[in-house]
Amino acid sequence: MGLFSFLFGNKTIPNKERGTAVFQSPEKKIGSVGGITLTSSLVVKQFTEEETRENAKENRWSYEPAYRQVMGTVEADPKQISAMFNELLVAFTAGSPRREYGVVKQFLPDGTWRWPAYDAFVLPDAEAYYQECMDEIKTASLFDLLMWHKAPELRGLYTEMTADNPKLTSRKKADVSNALIAAITENQHLALVQRLRDKAIAELELPGTPDYKEMRELLCRRISSIAYETHRRSQRMELANRYPMWEFFVIANDSTPEECIKRKGKRFRYDDLIWDNVPCSNLRCGCTAHTVF
Ligand SMILES: [Zn+2]
Repeated sequence: MGLFSFLFGNKTIPNKERGTAVFQSPEKKIGSVGGITLTSSLVVKQFTEEETRENAKENRWSYEPAYRQVMGTVEADPKQISAMFNELLVAFTAGSPRREYGVVKQFLPDGTWRWPAYDAFVLPDAEAYYQECMDEIKTASLFDLLMWHKAPELRGLYTEMTADNPKLTSRKKADVSNALIAAITENQHLALVQRLRDKAIAELELPGTPDYKEMRELLCRRISSIAYETHRRSQRMELANRYPMWEFFVIANDSTPEECIKRKGKRFRYDDLIWDNVPCSNLRCGCTAHTVF
C-alpha cells in the first residue's frame, strides 16, 4: 500500500458523531505531502443496516483484538461476552456510541458484571468525592439541608412541622424553607437538622458502587480507541520505511495524565517501545501518534 492508498484507500471511516464519512474520487486540493499534491472530497453517507453489517466485516481485523484485550479484563458471563462481539462491532461500524451503549446494556445488564480496571480508575475520585459530600452535609445549615429537597417534599415537611401556622403564600423553595425555619422552636430546629443530615448521609452513594452507565461508556470507548489505534498504527507502519519518525499526540483535557501531557509533540522512531503503551492505560486519555512527514 503506497502513500495514496494510505490516504484514500480506506473506503469508510467511522465518524463518532454523524454517521460515516466516505472518501470519494479525488476532487478538491487538500494539501501537499512530500511534493505530491493531494486532493479529496468528503461526503457523509447514511448506510443501510445491511450495508453497515457488511462494512463491519472490514473492521473486524482491528476491532476483534481490541475487544479480546479489553473484555479479557471484564468479569462477566463468558457466553454473554462472546455473544456480544458481533453486535458491538456493528454498532461501532455504524459510528453510533449510543448504539454501542445499548448493545452492552442488552448483553451485560446492570449488576451482572464488573470491570476492575474501571473500579481502580474511578475509586480514588469517588472516595474524595464521598468525603467532600460528607463534609458538606455535616456543616450544612438547616436552610441548605432544606434546599436539597424537592418542592413537594418541602411543603409536606412544612405541613408536618407547623400544624398551627398559616397557609404558605409562596410556592418557591426558598420562601417555604424560610417560613419553616421562622415557625419552629429551637429544639425543633436542632432535631430537624439532625434528621435531615442523617437522611442525606443515608442517601449518599458509597464509593465503590459502580455507575453502570459510566462503566458502559468507558468500556465502549476503551475498545474503540484501541481498535482505532491498531488501525492507525498499521497505516503508519506502511510508511515507516520512508517516514520512520512518529510524533506523540494528545488533545489534553482535565483527565489527561501528566505523563501524556509531557510527551506531547515528542518524536520517537516507529520501533521505539514507547508506542506499545499507546493508547495509555488511562481510560479517558485519547493519546495517539502521527507520522512525521
Ligand atoms: Zn495517554
